[in-house]
Amino acid sequence: PDSSLSSSPSSPPSTAKTPLYQPAPLPLHILIVGCGLGGLAAAHTLSSSGHSITLIESATAIGEVGAGIQVTPNVTRLLERWGLGEKMKQVAVRPEAIVFRRYSTGERVGYTRWGSQFEEGVGRGAPYYHMHRADFHKLLFDLAAPNMELRLNSTVVSVSPSSPSNPQPSVTLASGEVIKGDMIVGCDGVKSCIREVVLGKKVVADPTGDAAYRAIIPTDLMLQDPELRPFVETPEMTAWMAPGRHLMAYNIRAKKEFNLVLLHPDDGSVESWTAEGSADKMRTDFGDFEPRVRKLLSSVSSTLKWRLMDRLPLDSWVHPSGSVVLLGDSCHPMLPYRAQGAAMAIEDAAVLGNLFSKLESREQIKPLLEAYQELRLERTGNTQASSRLNQHIFHLPDGPEQRHRDAEMRKAMLAELY
Ligand code: FAD
Repeated sequence: PDSSLSSSPSSPPSTAKTPLYQPAPLPLHILIVGCGLGGLAAAHTLSSSGHSITLIESATAIGEVGAGIQVTPNVTRLLERWGLGEKMKQVAVRPEAIVFRRYSTGERVGYTRWGSQFEEGVGRGAPYYHMHRADFHKLLFDLAAPNMELRLNSTVVSVSPSSPSNPQPSVTLASGEVIKGDMIVGCDGVKSCIREVVLGKKVVADPTGDAAYRAIIPTDLMLQDPELRPFVETPEMTAWMAPGRHLMAYNIRAKKEFNLVLLHPDDGSVESWTAEGSADKMRTDFGDFEPRVRKLLSSVSSTLKWRLMDRLPLDSWVHPSGSVVLLGDSCHPMLPYRAQGAAMAIEDAAVLGNLFSKLESREQIKPLLEAYQELRLERTGNTQASSRLNQHIFHLPDGPEQRHRDAEMRKAMLAELY
């Protein structure tokens, strides 16, 4: 299993000095809907390309859920070029490897080295980081905020694409206010209402059959326990694989907090970033895991839980008028089993911003949006598919296929370590 992803070998090497965005000859007023990681990245890249940005968000305050996130080298490379290298270092933990374990015994069956060797090779100089989502969101918010108008507490309820009689596309808010712009970027997540406008029909994301519990434990408790201390002190991320389930665990916030993501069959959760789950039910669902995991879970006081959605690639991300486009989870929701959902949204933003730094005339808007889709669709579609494949690989039932997987992983681990 490959839980990371690097960028395509053809992209240029990392350098903070490379000027990525030039002010476009024709600046637009762009409406971005959604202040998630994708919306903020797009606000940064499009404003860096000289466009004026209004970012519209339904929440009343800026923030992210209390959970960790893996930030892979294909993203950190971009963020370094955006000048966030030092700030990332301050809030991130840099793991050196991922260890795969058998759920019931804790036996180590697989090992992939990250650290400097991996980063210099596959990562091409960019680090692999673990962060708290709120810290990551704040980094992007602080980057984008000076160059955008932010409209909080503003839920978009309808969108009017441009038309011959109405050349300016607009969004209507729940308050009834209409905001006009030159282009609309739908970064409104997995339940996107803008997706419906772009496709002209309701197209929802599909349940994957899995749901996630998430929890954070303070590491001071773990450091007092000789069995749990190594999870904090060893610079490794751990993944336990079980029939129909897996558990990812890693340090965040200068190793003061330990993040747990527990993937399991969906038994009626809701699709929401903020729904509370039952910590007791979580302990029961993972009650057949090795004693150290049960000990870890015994110190969880509260948990978030949500249903995991994905879907097959969409036919189009661009409205036929060429005035509305999708980005991030709104167009390519995926299982988090390669840690690439936010990564793909941020890559989308990098490409969109770069293309729109070339805009010279209004006639170019639609072809540039189509070029964006063309550049992104295959890569995001492959990532959706490989994330699905990891669901199969991680969750094999005990039996011949699982034993074959573990044997192959052990072989690769021995080659890696000795
Ligand atoms: P969102 O973050 O969903 O943002 C959408 C925003 O739009 C929200 O702020 C919402 O309030 C707003 N909005 C929605 N509708 C409207 C409206 N009508 N009007 C105004 N505003 C609106 N990715 C990684 O790269 N690495 C990982 O390690 C990783 N781990 C994950 C673990 C789990 C358990 C899950 C569920 C996901 C994980 N992901 C990971 C995926 C990642 O979190 C998502 O892909 C990413 O957050 C999507 O960002 P987005 O900006 O497209 O959408």
